[in-house]
Amino acid sequence: MSDIERVKSLIRTVPDFPVKGILFKDIFPIFQDPTAVETLISLDARGFLFGPILALRLGAAFVPVRKQGKLPGEIISAEFVKEYGVDVFEMQKEAIKPGQNVIIVDDLIATGGTAHAAGKLVEGSGGKILEYIFIVELIELNVVSVVHMSTVRPGFPPN
Ligand code: 5GP
Repeated sequence: MSDIERVKSLIRTVPDFPVKGILFKDIFPIFQDPTAVETLISLDARGFLFGPILALRLGAAFVPVRKQGKLPGEIISAEFVKEYGVDVFEMQKEAIKPGQNVIIVDDLIATGGTAHAAGKLVEGSGGKILEYIFIVELIELNVVSVVHMSTVRPGFPPN
């Protein structure tokens, strides 16, 4: 099995989570296999996984984007529509300095709405988005591909 196949085989499909009718791709089983985690981190020179691990590898700063109400202090926010409802993202004001280069990282891209909302926050802070990186791209409801490139697919970001 190739390294990528190994990562793919660890992605678990959970029906009816978080609400009925959604087939949720659970990526956490990947963390039970250190070799698969290493594959994700070391793919390409840039590698990728979750933000903090990637930031550590790059010697870069990490800035979290969280759901509403999780971050203290002055925040900026952006609304976005998900498969299962509307949500609000927040980022700490001035965490990103104008002109700073930013890579947006998430575990999974489906419609792209979530990443787009994060992008709006970054741009609102004056940050320059270099790329968007995801571990998994949900192509159809039950088809996944393990993405190992900066992903800006046709039609993304949505208007
Ligand atoms: P999008 O906004 O691109 O439609 O959805 C992607 C966002 O929703 C990501 O933040 C991702 O974490 C979450 N998400 C949506 N569906 C799934 C799923 O099946 N598995 C996981 N792990 N995350 C999902």
